[in-house]
Amino acid sequence: MDAADLVGVSTYLNTAHPDTLLFLANSLTADTADSARLVHVTNDCCDLEVVTGEGSATHRLAFAASQATLDGIRGEVFGFVRRARAATSPETPLTSLEHIVADTERETDRVAIVAGRRSISPGLVEITFTDPNGFTSLGGDEYLKLSADGSSAFYTVRRHRADVSEFDIWVVLHTGGPMSRWADTATVGAEVIIGAQRRTFAPPADTTHIVAFGDASGLAAIARIISETSPAISLTAVVSVDATTASRTLTPSATTSVRVVSDTTPGATFRILEGLDAVHGEEFVRPHVEIGPTTYVFGAGEASEMASVRSYLRRDRGLSPDWCCVHGYWARDNADAAANSS
Ligand SMILES: Cc1cc2nc3c(=O)[nH]c(=O)nc-3n(C[C@H](O)[C@H](O)[C@H](O)COP(=O)(O)OP(=O)(O)OC[C@H]3O[C@@H](n4cnc5c(N)ncnc54)[C@H](O)[C@@H]3O)c2cc1C
Repeated sequence: MDAADLVGVSTYLNTAHPDTLLFLANSLTADTADSARLVHVTNDCCDLEVVTGEGSATHRLAFAASQATLDGIRGEVFGFVRRARAATSPETPLTSLEHIVADTERETDRVAIVAGRRSISPGLVEITFTDPNGFTSLGGDEYLKLSADGSSAFYTVRRHRADVSEFDIWVVLHTGGPMSRWADTATVGAEVIIGAQRRTFAPPADTTHIVAFGDASGLAAIARIISETSPAISLTAVVSVDATTASRTLTPSATTSVRVVSDTTPGATFRILEGLDAVHGEEFVRPHVEIGPTTYVFGAGEASEMASVRSYLRRDRGLSPDWCCVHGYWARDNADAAANSS
C-alpha cells in the first residue's frame, strides 16, 4: 500500500462519510464538535482534526495493530466507530458508514456463538449470542434468521450490547418445533448461523401514541419497542401471555401501560383487539385502547389472528399502511388446533 492509497482513505472518508467522522469526534471531545476531518492516515494510526467552539484540536487514533492493507485500515476505522457507538445512547441514528457496513453484514450469513441460556418462565427461554464479526443493531422490531442443526426460523433481537458484541433473543418453547427444541437444550459454545437481519417498525415522525400487541412470539419485539420508545410518546402494550411471563418481560412506565390478557387460546389476540373501541367494562378481554390519527399500531403473533386484526384495523378502522405494521410470526396448523381444542 503506497502513500497515495493512504491519502485515498482520508479523501474517501472526508468526502463520503463526514457524518461518521463527526460522530467519532463527538465521542472524543467533551464539547459538541462542529466538524471533523482526517488529516493523516498511516499504517499505524489516523489523525482526526476536530473543530469545536473552543477551537481545533487533532486527536491521534492508534490502530490495534499495524495494517498493511486497505481492508485492515477499514477494519480499524470501523472499530473506532463501533466503540463510539457502544458509548452512545440507543436513540442516536446510525451514520452513513455504519449503514453501509450494516447492510453488508445483515445480508451475509455468519457464525454466532451461544454465550448463555436462561429460563425466563416455563414457556420462554433467553439465549445470548456472541457475534464475532461485531453486531450492528437496527433497533425497533429487528429480527434475524437463525439456523441451527439443519433448521431455521426468524427471531427478534430483544437487546444487544455493542461493547461485547452480544445479543439476546427470547424463544417460545412449544411442541413440535425443531428450533424451539434446539433452544430448549442449547449449550454455551454451540455455533449457529445468523443472517437476513431486518427491521420493519417505522412509526411516522408525528406519532404521539403506539399500540403494540401480540402473543408470546411477539414479546421480544414489544419489550424492545417499549424500551426504545421516547417518553414523549405514550405506548399501550396488549399481550396475550400468562401473567408470570408478562411480569418478567414487560416493564410499565409513566408513559407505557401494559395490559396483560392471560388468555392464550386461539383467537385471543383478535378478541382483544376487536374490542379496541368498544368498552365492555364487564368483559376483561375487551380493553378499551385508543387509536387516534397519530397512533402507530404494531402487532406480532399467530398468522391467521394477525391477518384478522390487520384487516380489522385497515378496513374497519381505516388505518393506512404507514400507521399499521402487523405481522404473522408463526402459523397454527391442524395439529395445534386439535391440541388446543382438546
Ligand atoms: C419476523 C419474525 C420474528 C419472530 N420473532 C420471534 C421471537 O422473538 N421469539 C419466538 O419465539 N418466535 C419468533 N418468531 C416466530 C418463530 O420464527 C416461529 O415460531 C417458528 O415457527 C419457530 O420454528 P420451529 O422450528 O420451532 O417450529 P416450526 O417447525 O416452524 O413449527 C412446528 C410446530 O410448532 C407450531 N409453532 C410454531 N411457532 C409456535 C409458537 N410461537 N407457539 C406455539 N406453536 C408454535 C407450528 O404451528 C407447528 O405445528 C418470529 C417470526 C418472525 C417471522
